[in-house]
Order: sequence, then structure tokens, then C-alpha cells
Amino acid sequence: MTLIAPTGDTPPSTGLPPVTCASWCIDGTGHTDAPFPEDQVCRGTTVDVELTRRPLVEVAEDQWARETVHLYLRRNPGSHTPTVEVYRGELGESVTFTLDEAEALGMALVRSVLEARSAR
Ligand SMILES: [Zn+2]
Repeated sequence: MTLIAPTGDTPPSTGLPPVTCASWCIDGTGHTDAPFPEDQVCRGTTVDVELTRRPLVEVAEDQWARETVHLYLRRNPGSHTPTVEVYRGELGESVTFTLDEAEALGMALVRSVLEARSAR
């Protein structure tokens, strides 16, 4: 996620001291190039799940694809507790899950799928 600095503020020119990245952070270098400490966010790999029953949407000029749901791990600066961020589409509203909430949702989804498939 790119955060835009408020206008009028000048980012430090010497770089920030590194933070200790989470093991799953795709950056992994401590985010020293972030303009502000609050931008030193660890982010995991984005997982995309295509919504195969949705109509095609234009994702770029003359490029069409199925709408997707995206999720990734995120850890805010100063926090030791990651969250799971889920959003739909390119600019969809995101939902933040604690790890326990994400686990409960994931297990409920798997149970539902297994129940539906065993009833065939
Ligand atoms: Zn990181």
C-alpha cells in the first residue's frame, strides 16, 4: 500500500532507520525508503482469488479480467500483531481480520465446501 504524504511535508532525505521486517514481508529490507515511520508497513504476498461467476471487468485499457478478491498479511509500524487484509476488485473496500478472525473464516469456508461436496 502506498501512502501519500500530506502536501507541504518534506520526507527526510537521509532515509529512516530500518525496522525489523516480519518473516513474510515481501520487502524484507526494513523499509528504509519509506518517507515517514508510519509508512514502514510490512506486507505479505497478495493472494488473488478469481470470482469465476462474475462478469469481466476492464482492468486496463482494453484489458479485461474476472473480478478478484485479494488478501495479504499486513503489520503496521510498532505493532507485533499482523492482520489479514481482504478487498474485492481494484478499489474495493477492504476488511481487516485479526489472525483469529481470519482463521475462523477460513475454517468456516472449508467446512462449507466440504459439506457441499460431500452432499453430492
Ligand atoms: Zn517489512
